Amino acid sequence: MAMDYQNLLKEVFVEVQGMNLQGEVASYIPELGRVDPNKFGIALVSNNGDVFTVGDAEEPFSIQSISKAFTLAMSYSYLQQDLWERVGVEPSGSAFNSLVQLESENGIPRNPFINAGALVITDIIMQHEAKPLDSILDSVRLLSGENTIGFNKKTALSEIKHSSRNKAVSHFMKSFNNIHSRIDKLIEVYCQHCAIEMSCIQLAKAFQLFSGHGAKVSFPGEKLSVSQIKRMNAIMQTCGFYDEAGEFAFKVGLPGKSGVGGGIAAILPGEFSIAVWSPPLNKKGNSLKGMKALEILTTKLGYSVF
Ligand code: GLU
Repeated sequence: MAMDYQNLLKEVFVEVQGMNLQGEVASYIPELGRVDPNKFGIALVSNNGDVFTVGDAEEPFSIQSISKAFTLAMSYSYLQQDLWERVGVEPSGSAFNSLVQLESENGIPRNPFINAGALVITDIIMQHEAKPLDSILDSVRLLSGENTIGFNKKTALSEIKHSSRNKAVSHFMKSFNNIHSRIDKLIEVYCQHCAIEMSCIQLAKAFQLFSGHGAKVSFPGEKLSVSQIKRMNAIMQTCGFYDEAGEFAFKVGLPGKSGVGGGIAAILPGEFSIAVWSPPLNKKGNSLKGMKALEILTTKLGYSVF
């Protein structure tokens, strides 16, 4: 598809900035509440490697739950189809940090993106790696081609101090034998990978793993097949946006993953990967401007996975 992506991004940016959208910056992790709410950036990387940007696309921010797409890919490369014995692939329909379904479903989380599922995924990485955080960082650095990427210690500590619910979820799953690590260590690694900081450009580059069907970017561990990339994209489409995945598919029509730091990374398979960042969130926890920008982008483009 020949497309003037640079001009498209500019148009989208200007239109969204003119809308006076008002959301709330996440503050339940206190350190996240300190970010400048006016930041707004977009980066698009076409599958032939061209990079297009607008706004604050080079500034690193807290990727939070977007990290779960990377940890999912790692755990999938270790366990292959056995992964699905430990975590499901259905949308949960309840809050990202909910405990309720776990009891009736025997400690198997609905999907890898709710907190319970992401904690199981982190546990799997800890079972395979002596230095799990370093391995996660290495993978993200490899995928984005940038070895400066790290995590913010303050943000991680700030979340560790406020992690009663994530600890409760982990202990509960341990009672069903679906967590094997020590809980304090598990929470530490989980909060650290959520506190990874990346720019829109770096995120969009790393998401080439998903838009390029894995063909162009190698991944550490066992190579992920086209079919495995398809499955992860399907999970991103159905579960990647808290309990607003239906709305996101309806309005935007791209698989992706959002985080409470205000980032959204998404892909148009075979065409491009894109990352948007604007910290104020809507009531469901997705970046308000980010979601609007992607909605306008696919509308102008006249193209989505649907
Ligand atoms: N580290 C965050 C938590 O577990 C992730 C939140 C998110 O981006 O969804 O609460």
